[in-house]
Amino acid sequence: MEREALHVLYDAIEARARSASDGRDWPCRRGCDGCCRRLGEAPSLTRAEWQAVWRGHLALPPAVRAEIRNKVERLGAAPVECPFLDTSDGACRVYAHRPAACRSYGFYRGRAHDAFCTIVEAALPALEAAGDPIVFGNQDALEDELARRFGPRVGIADWFAAHPEGEVSADGR
Ligand code: SF4
Ligand code: SF4
Repeated sequence: MEREALHVLYDAIEARARSASDGRDWPCRRGCDGCCRRLGEAPSLTRAEWQAVWRGHLALPPAVRAEIRNKVERLGAAPVECPFLDTSDGACRVYAHRPAACRSYGFYRGRAHDAFCTIVEAALPALEAAGDPIVFGNQDALEDELARRFGPRVGIADWFAAHPEGEVSADGR
């Protein structure tokens, strides 16, 4: 049930992103990894999001999983490079399973407007000139909805500590 609810939410984020970017030369693309290299904090997700990410993680080759786990164990202070980023090509290793924040970033804005991609920000005048006004998603409302539906967030170090390699699926599901 949670899994379906999460995908409904992900589909809504994707629809919002598509409606903003369709017909515009939106800068988000594979290999543009600035957002993944400079996280404001170590990833911290609801359990439902972790279960999705974990399905992607467990599908990776063992050596890659070991590399990711090693990065998690060495995470330092912000800005944080996401352990799931493949730094050789700037791509996300769990892209199809990535969490809500990775799907909304660049297309949603918070009330404080203090965590918004500087590349998108710089491109906005040209993007806005390319069509109707852009309707951004509301990041605060999205985070409220995640918390309401899926509960508190779990930090990446705690998630990895609780899930040793070799598990068949997240939380036995
Ligand atoms: S949010 Fe910014 S850094 Fe991330 S893919 Fe889009 S343009 Fe690139
Ligand atoms: S999970 Fe993937 S998309 Fe999200 S920050 Fe990490 S590398 Fe980037």
